[in-house]
Formats: sequence, structure tokens, C-alpha cells
Amino acid sequence: MSDKGCYSCDQTMEQLHSYVDRELNDFEMADVKKHLDDCPPCEQHFEFNLQVKRLVHTKGCPEKAPRALIEKILSNFKQA
Ligand SMILES: [Zn+2]
Repeated sequence: MSDKGCYSCDQTMEQLHSYVDRELNDFEMADVKKHLDDCPPCEQHFEFNLQVKRLVHTKGCPEKAPRALIEKILSNFKQA
């Protein structure tokens, strides 16, 4: 685990939402990015979060994001 940047997978998952929202400082952003670059499973989680975030932004309201669309994204990831 220690060869994937400063963060473990667990730590990266904890930071992921803040990373997607760009709420981390430059050092934290760089550390998360480094981990994602070296860790495909975490990178997939990141891509998924990004897509959900875009979806929610497009629809404007998280509660109204169509369940079917989110599941469609999920199924795309399972196929990848
Ligand atoms: Zn990882």
C-alpha cells in the first residue's frame, strides 16, 4: 500500500468527495491524485464520483437525480 503515494486506499476514499469538490489544499490534492494515478480501483471510484457529481449538477437537486441514471452509470462501471 505504501507505494501508492502518501495515502492508503481508505484515506483516499475518505478524501474523495472533498477531492471531487476541490475542497482540499494543493498538497492534499496532489497526494490524492498521486494515489489515483497509481491505483486503478480508487481511480474508478473517483471517476464514478465525478460522473455522479456531474449528474447531480445537471439536475440541480441531488434528491431528484434519477435513480435509473445513477444505476446506468454504475452498470457502465461494472462492464469496464
Ligand atoms: Zn487505492
